[in-house]
Amino acid sequence: MAPLTTTTIGSLFRFSEDLHESIDKALEFQKEHGVDIVSDGEQRADMVAYFVESFGGLAVENGAPIVTGKIELKDSPEKFSKVQDLKYIRSLHRDIKIKLAITGPTTLGMTCGSRKIKSHYKNIMDFDLYEDIAIALQPVAKALVDGGAYVQIDEPFLSQGYKDLAARVNLIDYIAQGLPSEKVSVHVCGFIGGFGVARMLSELENVSVISFGFAGGVEKRNIEHVSRKLFEDTGKRLGAGCISVTPLAENQVDTPEVVAAKLKDIASKVGRENIAYAHPDCGMRATNKFLVPIILRNMRAGVDLFG
Ligand SMILES: [Zn+2]
Repeated sequence: MAPLTTTTIGSLFRFSEDLHESIDKALEFQKEHGVDIVSDGEQRADMVAYFVESFGGLAVENGAPIVTGKIELKDSPEKFSKVQDLKYIRSLHRDIKIKLAITGPTTLGMTCGSRKIKSHYKNIMDFDLYEDIAIALQPVAKALVDGGAYVQIDEPFLSQGYKDLAARVNLIDYIAQGLPSEKVSVHVCGFIGGFGVARMLSELENVSVISFGFAGGVEKRNIEHVSRKLFEDTGKRLGAGCISVTPLAENQVDTPEVVAAKLKDIASKVGRENIAYAHPDCGMRATNKFLVPIILRNMRAGVDLFG
Protein backbone atom coordinates (compact mmCIF):
# COMPACT_ATOMS: atom_id res chain seq x y z
CA MET A 1 0.00 0.00 0.00
CA ALA A 2 1.24 3.52 -0.73
CA PRO A 3 2.22 5.46 2.39
CA LEU A 4 -0.32 7.89 3.79
CA THR A 5 -0.26 11.40 2.39
CA THR A 6 1.08 14.04 4.78
CA THR A 7 0.08 17.65 5.18
CA THR A 8 0.28 20.50 7.70
CA ILE A 9 -2.58 22.36 9.35
CA GLY A 10 -1.35 25.79 8.28
CA SER A 11 0.68 28.15 10.37
CA LEU A 12 4.44 27.97 10.79
CA PHE A 13 6.93 30.40 12.32
CA ARG A 14 7.79 33.38 10.13
CA PHE A 15 10.79 32.61 7.93
CA SER A 16 11.81 36.07 6.72
CA GLU A 17 10.90 39.76 6.93
CA ASP A 18 10.06 39.81 3.21
CA LEU A 19 6.64 38.24 2.57
CA HIS A 20 7.40 36.47 -0.70
CA GLU A 21 10.77 35.21 0.48
CA SER A 22 9.04 34.00 3.63
CA ILE A 23 6.39 32.09 1.65
CA ASP A 24 9.10 30.58 -0.60
CA LYS A 25 11.00 29.38 2.44
CA ALA A 26 7.88 27.98 4.13
CA LEU A 27 7.08 25.91 1.02
CA GLU A 28 10.68 24.74 0.63
CA PHE A 29 10.88 23.85 4.32
CA GLN A 30 7.78 21.67 4.17
CA LYS A 31 8.91 19.90 0.99
CA GLU A 32 12.34 19.24 2.51
CA HIS A 33 10.69 17.69 5.54
CA GLY A 34 8.49 15.29 3.62
CA VAL A 35 5.16 17.13 3.54
CA ASP A 36 3.12 16.09 0.47
CA ILE A 37 0.36 18.73 0.56
CA VAL A 38 2.02 21.93 1.76
CA SER A 39 0.41 25.02 3.29
CA ASP A 40 1.37 28.66 2.77
CA GLY A 41 2.67 28.60 6.34
CA GLU A 42 0.40 31.59 7.09
CA GLN A 43 3.41 33.86 6.71
CA ARG A 44 1.41 37.05 6.31
CA ALA A 45 -0.53 37.23 9.54
CA ASP A 46 -2.33 35.22 12.20
CA MET A 47 -5.67 33.55 11.55
CA VAL A 48 -7.73 36.63 12.45
CA ALA A 49 -5.56 39.50 11.16
CA TYR A 50 -5.99 38.26 7.56
CA PHE A 51 -9.65 39.15 7.68
CA VAL A 52 -9.45 42.53 9.38
CA GLU A 53 -7.74 43.98 6.31
CA SER A 54 -10.18 42.50 3.77
CA PHE A 55 -13.53 42.53 5.56
CA GLY A 56 -15.63 45.62 6.18
CA GLY A 57 -17.07 45.66 9.71
CA LEU A 58 -13.87 44.49 11.39
CA ALA A 59 -11.13 46.68 12.82
CA VAL A 60 -8.23 46.54 15.23
CA GLU A 61 -8.52 48.51 18.45
CA ASN A 62 -5.67 48.56 20.98
CA GLY A 63 -4.05 45.65 19.18
CA ALA A 64 -7.12 43.39 19.21
CA PRO A 65 -9.78 42.78 16.55
CA ILE A 66 -13.31 44.12 17.13
CA VAL A 67 -16.59 44.29 15.21
CA THR A 68 -17.48 47.80 14.01
CA GLY A 69 -20.45 47.16 11.70
CA LYS A 70 -21.94 44.80 9.14
CA ILE A 71 -19.34 42.27 8.07
CA GLU A 72 -18.82 41.96 4.33
CA LEU A 73 -16.08 41.37 1.82
CA LYS A 74 -14.78 44.85 0.92
CA ASP A 75 -13.44 44.09 -2.51
CA SER A 76 -13.40 41.28 -5.08
CA PRO A 77 -12.23 37.94 -3.65
CA GLU A 78 -9.19 38.11 -5.97
CA LYS A 79 -7.92 40.97 -3.80
CA PHE A 80 -8.09 38.90 -0.62
CA SER A 81 -4.59 38.44 0.78
CA LYS A 82 -4.60 34.64 0.74
CA VAL A 83 -5.87 34.56 -2.82
CA GLN A 84 -3.04 36.94 -3.79
CA ASP A 85 -0.53 34.72 -2.01
CA LEU A 86 -1.88 31.66 -3.81
CA LYS A 87 -1.48 33.44 -7.12
CA TYR A 88 2.13 34.21 -6.24
CA ILE A 89 2.76 30.57 -5.25
CA ARG A 90 1.12 29.24 -8.42
CA SER A 91 3.24 31.54 -10.60
CA LEU A 92 6.33 29.72 -9.32
CA HIS A 93 5.00 26.21 -8.67
CA ARG A 94 2.45 25.09 -11.19
CA ASP A 95 2.11 21.53 -9.90
CA ILE A 96 2.46 21.94 -6.15
CA LYS A 97 -0.31 20.46 -4.00
CA ILE A 98 -1.29 23.19 -1.61
CA LYS A 99 -3.92 23.60 1.09
CA LEU A 100 -4.88 27.02 2.39
CA ALA A 101 -6.80 27.65 5.60
CA ILE A 102 -9.57 30.14 6.19
CA THR A 103 -10.95 30.81 9.65
CA GLY A 104 -14.55 29.73 10.05
CA PRO A 105 -17.42 32.02 11.08
CA THR A 106 -17.72 30.94 14.70
CA THR A 107 -14.02 31.29 15.47
CA LEU A 108 -13.67 34.56 13.59
CA GLY A 109 -16.90 36.07 14.93
CA MET A 110 -16.32 35.01 18.52
CA THR A 111 -12.72 36.27 18.47
CA CYS A 112 -13.68 39.73 17.18
CA GLY A 113 -17.15 40.03 18.72
CA SER A 114 -16.31 38.89 22.22
CA ARG A 115 -14.16 41.98 22.63
CA LYS A 116 -16.43 44.65 21.25
CA ILE A 117 -19.42 45.01 18.94
CA LYS A 118 -19.85 48.69 18.07
CA SER A 119 -22.92 48.46 15.86
CA HIS A 120 -25.18 46.39 13.60
CA TYR A 121 -25.26 43.19 15.72
CA LYS A 122 -27.24 42.92 18.95
CA ASN A 123 -24.63 40.93 20.83
CA ILE A 124 -22.17 38.05 20.55
CA MET A 125 -24.99 35.50 20.22
CA ASP A 126 -26.63 37.36 17.31
CA PHE A 127 -26.54 34.68 14.62
CA ASP A 128 -26.54 37.33 11.85
CA LEU A 129 -22.90 38.02 12.78
CA TYR A 130 -21.89 34.45 11.90
CA GLU A 131 -24.12 34.26 8.85
CA ASP A 132 -22.61 37.47 7.45
CA ILE A 133 -19.10 36.10 7.97
CA ALA A 134 -20.08 32.89 6.14
CA ILE A 135 -21.49 34.98 3.26
CA ALA A 136 -18.22 36.95 3.10
CA LEU A 137 -16.07 33.80 3.23
CA GLN A 138 -17.90 31.90 0.50
CA PRO A 139 -16.40 33.79 -2.50
CA VAL A 140 -12.96 33.64 -0.85
CA ALA A 141 -13.19 29.84 -0.54
CA LYS A 142 -14.29 29.65 -4.18
CA ALA A 143 -11.41 31.86 -5.35
CA LEU A 144 -8.93 29.64 -3.51
CA VAL A 145 -10.34 26.46 -5.05
CA ASP A 146 -10.47 28.12 -8.47
CA GLY A 147 -6.80 29.00 -7.95
CA GLY A 148 -6.02 25.31 -7.56
CA ALA A 149 -5.82 24.96 -3.78
CA TYR A 150 -7.45 22.70 -1.26
CA VAL A 151 -9.34 24.77 1.29
CA GLN A 152 -9.37 23.98 4.99
CA ILE A 153 -11.98 25.73 7.10
CA ASP A 154 -10.57 26.17 10.60
CA GLU A 155 -13.11 26.13 13.40
CA PRO A 156 -11.22 25.51 16.66
CA PHE A 157 -14.06 27.08 18.67
CA LEU A 158 -16.61 24.48 17.53
CA SER A 159 -15.24 22.00 20.05
CA GLN A 160 -16.90 24.18 22.69
CA GLY A 161 -20.63 23.90 23.15
CA TYR A 162 -23.07 26.46 21.79
CA LYS A 163 -26.83 26.17 21.97
CA ASP A 164 -26.98 26.78 18.22
CA LEU A 165 -24.04 24.47 17.43
CA ALA A 166 -25.82 22.63 14.60
CA ALA A 167 -26.58 25.90 12.81
CA ARG A 168 -22.97 26.99 13.29
CA VAL A 169 -21.71 23.73 11.77
CA ASN A 170 -24.09 24.21 8.84
CA LEU A 171 -22.44 27.53 7.99
CA ILE A 172 -19.44 25.47 6.86
CA ASP A 173 -21.65 23.89 4.20
CA TYR A 174 -22.77 27.36 3.18
CA ILE A 175 -19.15 28.47 2.66
CA ALA A 176 -18.34 25.33 0.66
CA GLN A 177 -21.51 25.35 -1.49
CA GLY A 178 -20.88 24.68 -5.15
CA LEU A 179 -17.25 23.66 -4.59
CA PRO A 180 -16.01 20.14 -5.34
CA SER A 181 -16.22 18.57 -1.88
CA GLU A 182 -12.93 16.71 -2.37
CA LYS A 183 -11.25 20.13 -2.24
CA VAL A 184 -12.72 21.14 1.11
CA SER A 185 -11.85 20.05 4.64
CA VAL A 186 -12.70 21.30 8.10
CA HIS A 187 -10.30 21.33 11.05
CA VAL A 188 -11.45 21.46 14.66
CA CYS A 189 -8.88 21.63 17.47
CA GLY A 190 -8.87 20.30 20.97
CA PHE A 191 -11.28 17.77 22.45
CA ILE A 192 -14.10 16.89 20.05
CA GLY A 193 -15.97 14.43 22.27
CA GLY A 194 -18.48 16.91 23.67
CA PHE A 195 -21.72 18.26 22.23
CA GLY A 196 -21.90 15.78 19.32
CA VAL A 197 -19.71 18.00 17.16
CA ALA A 198 -17.92 15.10 15.40
CA ARG A 199 -21.23 13.64 14.25
CA MET A 200 -22.49 17.05 13.10
CA LEU A 201 -19.31 17.66 11.11
CA SER A 202 -19.52 14.23 9.52
CA GLU A 203 -22.95 15.13 8.19
CA LEU A 204 -21.73 18.17 6.23
CA GLU A 205 -22.48 17.75 2.55
CA ASN A 206 -19.90 19.96 0.88
CA VAL A 207 -16.84 18.84 2.82
CA SER A 208 -14.94 15.58 2.29
CA VAL A 209 -12.36 15.55 5.10
CA ILE A 210 -12.77 16.31 8.79
CA SER A 211 -9.55 16.86 10.67
CA PHE A 212 -8.88 16.32 14.37
CA GLY A 213 -5.85 15.96 16.62
CA PHE A 214 -5.13 12.71 18.47
CA ALA A 215 -1.64 13.20 19.90
CA GLY A 216 -1.56 16.06 22.44
CA GLY A 217 -2.60 15.84 26.08
CA VAL A 218 -6.20 16.92 25.42
CA GLU A 219 -6.43 15.44 21.92
CA LYS A 220 -5.48 11.90 23.05
CA ARG A 221 -9.05 11.31 24.22
CA ASN A 222 -10.45 12.03 20.74
CA ILE A 223 -9.73 8.42 19.77
CA GLU A 224 -12.78 7.41 21.87
CA HIS A 225 -15.02 9.64 19.75
CA VAL A 226 -14.27 8.49 16.22
CA SER A 227 -15.34 5.27 14.56
CA ARG A 228 -15.50 3.59 11.19
CA LYS A 229 -19.25 4.17 11.24
CA LEU A 230 -18.85 7.92 11.79
CA PHE A 231 -16.93 8.21 8.52
CA GLU A 232 -18.54 5.49 6.43
CA ASP A 233 -22.14 6.49 7.18
CA THR A 234 -21.53 9.83 5.52
CA GLY A 235 -18.64 9.06 3.13
CA LYS A 236 -16.18 11.31 4.95
CA ARG A 237 -12.48 10.76 5.49
CA LEU A 238 -10.33 11.71 8.45
CA GLY A 239 -7.46 14.18 8.63
CA ALA A 240 -5.47 12.46 11.36
CA GLY A 241 -3.47 14.62 13.75
CA CYS A 242 -0.74 12.17 14.74
CA ILE A 243 1.99 14.24 16.41
CA SER A 244 1.79 16.79 19.20
CA VAL A 245 2.63 20.43 18.42
CA THR A 246 3.29 21.42 22.05
CA PRO A 247 6.62 19.81 23.05
CA LEU A 248 8.89 22.11 25.03
CA ALA A 249 12.13 20.24 24.40
CA GLU A 250 13.56 17.86 21.83
CA ASN A 251 13.13 14.85 24.11
CA GLN A 252 9.40 15.60 24.29
CA VAL A 253 8.83 15.38 20.52
CA ASP A 254 6.89 12.22 19.64
CA THR A 255 9.28 9.72 18.06
CA PRO A 256 8.56 8.05 14.71
CA GLU A 257 7.64 4.90 16.66
CA VAL A 258 5.09 6.83 18.74
CA VAL A 259 3.65 8.44 15.58
CA ALA A 260 3.37 5.04 13.87
CA ALA A 261 1.67 3.54 16.93
CA LYS A 262 -0.76 6.48 17.02
CA LEU A 263 -1.65 5.98 13.36
CA LYS A 264 -2.14 2.27 13.99
CA ASP A 265 -4.55 3.12 16.81
CA ILE A 266 -6.46 5.58 14.65
CA ALA A 267 -6.59 3.14 11.73
CA SER A 268 -7.93 0.39 13.98
CA LYS A 269 -10.79 2.72 14.99
CA VAL A 270 -11.72 4.29 11.64
CA GLY A 271 -10.14 2.01 9.00
CA ARG A 272 -6.93 2.90 7.18
CA GLU A 273 -8.82 3.54 3.95
CA ASN A 274 -10.83 6.23 5.73
CA ILE A 275 -7.73 8.27 6.60
CA ALA A 276 -7.27 11.02 4.01
CA TYR A 277 -3.93 12.19 5.34
CA ALA A 278 -1.73 12.52 8.40
CA HIS A 279 -0.83 15.91 9.86
CA PRO A 280 0.42 17.47 13.09
CA ASP A 281 -2.38 18.01 15.63
CA CYS A 282 -2.67 21.72 14.85
CA GLY A 283 -0.90 24.73 13.36
CA MET A 284 2.63 25.42 14.59
CA ARG A 285 2.90 29.20 14.90
CA ALA A 286 3.18 28.86 18.67
CA THR A 287 5.46 25.82 18.57
CA ASN A 288 9.13 26.27 19.53
CA LYS A 289 10.69 26.94 16.11
CA PHE A 290 13.68 24.73 16.77
CA LEU A 291 11.37 21.78 17.33
CA VAL A 292 9.21 22.27 14.21
CA PRO A 293 11.71 20.58 11.82
CA ILE A 294 12.01 17.64 14.22
CA ILE A 295 8.21 17.34 14.46
CA LEU A 296 7.85 17.25 10.67
CA ARG A 297 10.74 14.81 10.24
CA ASN A 298 9.38 12.48 12.91
CA MET A 299 5.89 12.67 11.42
CA ARG A 300 7.22 11.68 7.99
CA ALA A 301 9.31 8.86 9.46
CA GLY A 302 6.33 7.70 11.54
CA VAL A 303 4.05 7.69 8.49
CA ASP A 304 6.62 5.65 6.55
CA LEU A 305 7.02 3.25 9.48
CA PHE A 306 3.24 2.84 9.66
CA GLY A 307 3.35 1.90 5.97
ZN1 LIG B 1 -6.02 23.18 15.35
